[in-house]
Amino acid sequence: MTIKLNTFTSFTTSNCYVLQPFDNEVCIFIDLPPDLDDALKYVEENNLTIAGALITHGHYDHSLGLRDFNYKSYINLDDQFLARNPQEQIKAFMGNAYDVEEYEGELRSFEEIPYDSIKVYKNPGHTKGSVSYEFPNIGLIFTGDFVFKDGIGRTDLYSGSIDEMKHSIDHVFSNFNEDFEILPGHGPSGKVKSIKENNEYIKVMLNDRTS
Ligand SMILES: [Zn+2]
Repeated sequence: MTIKLNTFTSFTTSNCYVLQPFDNEVCIFIDLPPDLDDALKYVEENNLTIAGALITHGHYDHSLGLRDFNYKSYINLDDQFLARNPQEQIKAFMGNAYDVEEYEGELRSFEEIPYDSIKVYKNPGHTKGSVSYEFPNIGLIFTGDFVFKDGIGRTDLYSGSIDEMKHSIDHVFSNFNEDFEILPGHGPSGKVKSIKENNEYIKVMLNDRTS
């Protein structure tokens, strides 16, 4: 079985993943950054069929592409407010140069994802509605801004919480299969085992637990 995974990194540094998990032409997007052109071009050139998008959390650098994506999109509805209202977030990072309207299109709950082979973990901390999407059959986990190869997501933004982040590292990340590959919302991927051993932020949080 050949699993194809392509990564398109946005100007916002967030990753848009195009995954073909079923050894056929069906692909799933993971996260929708503002600039989807390259990813959509890739889909067209390779005659792929888009099944939908899995959004890890509502920050604009992972969801603004909703506006240009005419397929089913799934998210934890706890983050719906963020995904629909990017203006405040964008202002905080880029000033008033960009004027973005509220998103009023469709957004579905991750509970409606039509594939039993995809597992969803709630891991609040970076935002209230942050989730990870696991494809156990192929050993991949898409963590958004929960866990990066060398860090963890910020907890000082709207609806973030350091206590919830610690709890999520403790109860979600620490139970991930050590041989699985983490594909984060920013930066390169890494094996769960290696991240446990080398990611200083996670080491501190997991040590806190035992001391
Ligand atoms: Zn984020």
